Order: sequence, then C-alpha cells, then structure tokens
Amino acid sequence: STSFGIDKALEQLELKDINYGTSTGSNWMPGTDQLSSYSPVDGELIGKVTTTTKEEYEQVMKAATDAFTSWRVMPAPKRGEIVRQFGEELRRLKEPLGKLVSYEMGKSYQEGLGEVQEMIDICDFAVGLSRQLHGLTMHSEREGHRMYEQYHPLGVVGIISAFNFPVAVWSWNTALAWICGDVTVWKPSEKTPLCGVACQKIAARVFAENGLPEGISCLINGDYRVGEFMTKDKRVPLVSATGSTRMGKIVAATVAERLGRSLLELGGNNAIIVTPDADIKMTIIGAVFGAVGTCGQRCTSTRRLIIHEDIYDQVKKAVVDAYGQLRIGNPLDQNNHVGPLIDTDAVAMYNQALSKVVEEGGKLVVEGGVLQGQGYESGCYVKPAIAEASNSFEIVQHETFAPVLYLIKYSGDVTNAIDIQNGVVQGLSSAIMTNNLREAERFLSHAGSDCGIANVNIGTSGAEIGGAFGGEKETGGGRESGSDAWKIYMRRQTNTINYTTDLPLAQGIKFDL
Ligand code: NAD
Repeated sequence: STSFGIDKALEQLELKDINYGTSTGSNWMPGTDQLSSYSPVDGELIGKVTTTTKEEYEQVMKAATDAFTSWRVMPAPKRGEIVRQFGEELRRLKEPLGKLVSYEMGKSYQEGLGEVQEMIDICDFAVGLSRQLHGLTMHSEREGHRMYEQYHPLGVVGIISAFNFPVAVWSWNTALAWICGDVTVWKPSEKTPLCGVACQKIAARVFAENGLPEGISCLINGDYRVGEFMTKDKRVPLVSATGSTRMGKIVAATVAERLGRSLLELGGNNAIIVTPDADIKMTIIGAVFGAVGTCGQRCTSTRRLIIHEDIYDQVKKAVVDAYGQLRIGNPLDQNNHVGPLIDTDAVAMYNQALSKVVEEGGKLVVEGGVLQGQGYESGCYVKPAIAEASNSFEIVQHETFAPVLYLIKYSGDVTNAIDIQNGVVQGLSSAIMTNNLREAERFLSHAGSDCGIANVNIGTSGAEIGGAFGGEKETGGGRESGSDAWKIYMRRQTNTINYTTDLPLAQGIKFDL
C-alpha cells in the first residue's frame, strides 16, 4: 500500500491512527465492534473503523437535535460561508481524498479526483443557493391580506450511501442540507468506511474552527442494522438513501410506516440508443466509457446498447475493437482504464450474469473472465464483457453491478428503440446517439424516454451538479444536487397576514357574533 503515495494520503487525511467510526464532530466515540476495510486494489487491510452501538447512536441524536436549534436560526448565507470554507478544504485535500477513494473503492485515480471535484462543485452551488432558497408570493382573495410561502429547515437529515460513490453522494446531500439549516447524520457503506471517516474529519475541523456546536455533521458506521436506527427513528424527518432497489424498498416502507420522508436514489439499467444517423466515433467513446468506467459500478453505467439493424454489425465491430484496447489493472496507475470490482461477492455476481445470459440464449462477443497472477492478487479484477442479448432476458432486466454490456438490435422507427429502452423496471439514465432532429426530439418528448436523465449525443454516465439528479420507477423517484432539489431538505409553510381591522373569512363565509 506504500505505492502510489497511499501512505502519504492516509497521513494527510489523518487516518493513520486507530479510527473511530462514530462522531458528532470533534467528539469520536470508541464503539465495541470493528469493521475492517480491505482494498480491492491489492487486497490489503487499509484500516479498521468502529461500528456504532445503540447507546452511541442516542448520543449522536442528542448532539444533532441540540445543534439543530442553533444552526436553524443562523442566517442561511452565513451557513453558506461555512460550506464555502468546507469546499476550500476539499480543494486543498483533493489529491489525497481522490487517492483514498480510488484505493478503498477501486475506481481509477482520475475518477477519484472527479468525485472530489463533484464535492467541490456542489459546495459552490450550495454557497450561491444559500442567498436564495426562495418561496413564492401569491394574491389573497381577501382585501388587505398578504399571502406567501416560505421554506424552513427540516431537522435531522439521515444519509445512507452506497459504496460506489463513497464521498460525493454524502456531499450532494450535506452541502444542500446544511445551507437549508438541517443537521446531518451519515451512515456510509460498510464497504468504504474510511472514506466516511476522512470526510467527517474534514467537516468537523471546519465546524470546530468556526466555533460551531457538535452535532451539525455526524457520522455513524456499520451495516444495515445501523442504517435501521435512522429509518425507524421519528426524530429523523428525512432519510436520503442511495443504493440498491432491494434496499430502497425496505427503507421506503420503514420510513413510510412513521410517515417520514424518504429520498431514494436506487439502481439503474441505462441504455444508449444508436440510430442510423449516429456519429459512430462519438457513440463508441460514450458507450465504452459508460460501460467500463468505474468497472461498470456506476448507477448510470451503460448496460444496454440498442442499435439499429442497418448499422448493427458496424457498431458491434467498433465496440468489440475498442474493448481490445482496454488496459485492466491497478486503478492508481494512470495507464490503466479499468480497475477492480469492489469485492469477490461482486465478482461472483458478474460470473453469474455471464452464465445466465448464455443460458437464456445470448451470445458473448467479448468473453469475460477473472484475472489472475501478478497485480491481480485481490481476486477482484475482471474483463469487461459484451453479450448479444434480447431485452426480454431476465438477466438483461436486472442491474448487474459489473462491466457487462448487452447489445440489442432494433428495426424500423426510433419509437421501437424507445419502447425497448423503456421496457425495464428501472428509470435512471438514458441516451440517444443521432444527428436526426426528429429522432432526438421524439426521444425527449412526452412519449420518449421515461428516465430521470435523458441525453442526446452524450453517454448515460457523468451528470453535472447543476441539474437535478435521480430517476423514475424502481430507481426511486428522488432528486438530488442541482435545480430545485434543495426543497426536499426543507418544510414549506404558507403564510397569510391580515393588515386590516376586520376579520373576513375565506370563501366568503359569514360568522357574525
Ligand atoms: P446496497 O443497497 O447494498 O447498500 C447501500 C447502503 O444501504 C449501504 O450503506 C447499506 O448499509 C445500506 N442498507 C442496506 N440495507 C439497508 C436497510 N434495510 N436499512 C438501512 N440501510 C440499509 O448498495 P451498494 O451495493 O452499496 O451500491 C450499489 C447500488 O447503489 C446499485 O444498485 C446502484 O445503482 C445504486 N446507486 C444508485 C445511485 C443513484 O443515484 N441512483 C447512486 C449510487 C449507487
């Protein structure tokens, strides 16, 4: 682990000593059990983090609910100033944090840096937003009355995140929640706990330097059982959960049981439609990066290419050739394109998907396989694979979190391709490659893509901070990040003020005393 400057990065992030996994800011709690974090890059133990006990969780909730009473009355632009300082710290620590993301999660160093850049971008966005958070005014039906709506802080926001974006998803939620006047409690994925500790240390330092109380940013650690502390807790009005659809269904039901709010960012099954009017060169770059980037472990990874029959053979050949160029290996080595899967369980799922697609009648045009030998000791490195398949296959309907790309042929009009694209239970990201205006507009129309993200001449992955991010159907319906996604972190209030000496009732009702 000393290679590629990992030791230095851990030092800069203050992760060298024993790491406690539960924190209200400067206060770190000892816990009892520990989670071990092994790197998928080389299989080495990176560190251990304590898991949160129920008693510690109660201490966290006490600190968080206490902090909320002062944080919510601080003017929003002042809260924005704290987020600005946090963004500055992220700029300073971009390289070590990007490196840790790469080493603990397995994505390429470039993608690790990109993830930290997303954190910086959302901070910038939130700082500007802290001077807005605007409601509306509307006209009252009563004379001498004024009516408007405003947004108030909500309370404790619980954040449950997935392993594949171990730092960015937290910041998408926290940067907005903090400027909105909320306090946050984060449970990172049990597969990437050190990324959680590193981020919490950075945030805690900024809050402490500004003399702010414990509890505005809290961290808890452990598996789903620790997540359940929050989903079942009435003191947590909003739970923002990112992960599998399986998890989202359980979290949604648990939070709904107590009529809490949930913001769900779940699995995708993203497709690129390639029409006869597509620019093939652009298509190949978008499709290959989309399918193999982060080793196919992005929620927006390209899983299906829906190709018109007239250009099917040409596109197939170009994609297969491009796969021949891919270099698989240590993601910290910038010569490699593809790093490892997160763990050997993920490798097993990948192998199952390859067997299943063949069983269902598919044909592998780029064979997969697990890599062995020097540099691949962790057992997590696999070859990106391509299979010709039908959209109706059970395995194609399912999100396999690995680099397996399905080629699907369509004929006739683009509407047939759109039907195939929409013919899955997930609804996160979608794209069309075409220079034909009619096809592009059809794809974006009311009768077009049913996904939360629909792109033209761009692949399915790599969303920007400024737009709202999320998806429909079994992707969960939540929206995070840009546009008006901040509204879910606040409660809306309608206010009517009477500045007359009469008390006219609404709807003209007479009530004479
Ligand atoms: P996962 O569902 O296994 O775990 C996600 C998180 O949920 C973890 O922190 C886990 O501990 C927690 N969790 C699991 N069950 C829980 C329960 N019953 N109660 C409370 N918490 C619980 O997902 P993963 O393997 O870490 O991540 C991969 C999945 O995440 C993929 O499906 C991917 O598409 C999805 N994802 C979606 C988005 C998005 O924005 N839509 C972003 C990233 C990842």
